[in-house]
Formats: sequence, C-alpha cells, structure tokens
Amino acid sequence: MTPICDYHMHTPLCGHAVGLPSQYVERAIALGLEEMGFSDHAPLVHIVDPKISMSHGQLPLYHQMIEDVRSRYKNKIRIKIAVEADFIPGYEAKTKTILDGYPYDYVIGSVHFIKDWGFDNPDERDGWNEHNVNAVYHDYFDLLRQSAKAGIFDIMGHVDLVKKFGNRPTQDMTQEVRQTAQVFKKAGVAVEINTSGLRKPVNEMYPQLAHLKKYCAAGVPLTFGSDAHDPKDVGADFAAAVELAKKAGYSEYVLFEKRKIVDRIKL
Ligand SMILES: [Zn+2]
Ligand SMILES: [Zn+2]
Repeated sequence: MTPICDYHMHTPLCGHAVGLPSQYVERAIALGLEEMGFSDHAPLVHIVDPKISMSHGQLPLYHQMIEDVRSRYKNKIRIKIAVEADFIPGYEAKTKTILDGYPYDYVIGSVHFIKDWGFDNPDERDGWNEHNVNAVYHDYFDLLRQSAKAGIFDIMGHVDLVKKFGNRPTQDMTQEVRQTAQVFKKAGVAVEINTSGLRKPVNEMYPQLAHLKKYCAAGVPLTFGSDAHDPKDVGADFAAAVELAKKAGYSEYVLFEKRKIVDRIKL
C-alpha cells in the first residue's frame, strides 16, 4: 500500500495535545509517509478557552515551530502548514482575517459547536441530555453546509463528528448527507477520512461508509487525517481508512499547497 499522507494533527499549543512537532514528524517518517501536515486548532473567534485552541498571540510561535521542523526534516518528508478552524456563524469575517494572516497550505473547517454548545467536548457531554438527538443532527448538517458555503475552508473536518459519543439519530439522515455532499462539491471543498473516531466512544471513523459514498458520488475530493493529539497516533488506522475510501468508491486522494489541490494520488 502506498503510504498515505496525514493532513490532520495537532501540537501542545491547543492545550489538549502532547508531544513535540519533531516527535510527530519522526513518527510519520517511521511510517514511510512522504508528506504530512500540521493543522492545530486556530484561535477561537467567539470565546477564549486555552484548553480548546491556541491563542491569537501564539500564532507566530506555531508557525515558527512548524517552519523549524520543515527545514530540519526537509530531506526526509514534506511538511505542510495548516490549521483547523471552527465554523461559528456570524464570525466568518473574523475567521477569514485570522486565516489570511499566514500563507497556509490548506485550512480544515470544523463544526464543533452548535450555538454555544461544544457538543463533542467531553466536559459538555451532559448537554446531550438536554437536546433532541434528531434536532442536533439536523443542526449539525446545516452548519456543515453553511461552513462550506462560507468559502473560507479547503477541507471539511470529521464530517459526522456529531456521533462521537455514540448518540445516533432515530430519523433517516440520508437526505441531509446527500444535500451536504452537493453543497461541498459546489463549494469546491474536500472531505477527510478522519480515523480518530476509532479512538472515541463511537469506535468508527468519520464519516461512516454510507456518508462517504455520497461524498464520492458527488465528486468531492478526499484527504486523510489521523487527528493525532499524540505522536503515537500519526497515521493511525490508515490501512483501514484506505479500505473505507475504496469501498466508498474513491480511487484517489488529493494533496494541497498554498490552498489549492496540486496533486492527485492513486489509492
Ligand atoms: Zn483537538
Ligand atoms: Zn476537530
């Protein structure tokens, strides 16, 4: 199997990851990866929480840290610099200003909040008792579509994260997913297979096969991400991720540079 490029990993600047960037890089090299990308949590735009994301003031340090490993390991692996940014409706302009502040290779857009509720935050898990699960799913897919339409992201992150704690809808969400896939295609964003769901209560990759099939059918490009918050998880479960991609109908994945797709790699 061709070693797959890992585009989703973090650094301790976000307040909930461990390990030096060099340890993430060493792990990627040990796995035979030719390319990887750091995509730590960009500063939040609607609240400040040092346990969720880096602060605005830490951005220069983030870039310095990644530039440092990029030059140190340049003969061994290509390192892309990115961020994972939250989609918060009404804060698109502020988010764009942050993303325009540096020349990123790609930006992962993620929905982690429904209104003020961090629905995937273990500290806010009780919120599930106060919400109707179907309504949460509808809101989530609506936010996914809005985030793609915002035109400020390149790759949509973990696109069924809402299932993280195992809360499943009782209504059929096929129409929501189909519509979301069409919006992604029109917006020109890619989707990722994110293996971190296998390390969460749901014990399943994001997105599930039935959803991924819809994204593939709509012609949405694909990337891979471990969402590693620990160097040991770089490239985790990528053989299974490739299998999932192929089952969904994908025959290639894409590489980004300066916020454009620059290469398509056969699976
Ligand atoms: Zn994180
Ligand atoms: Zn995320």
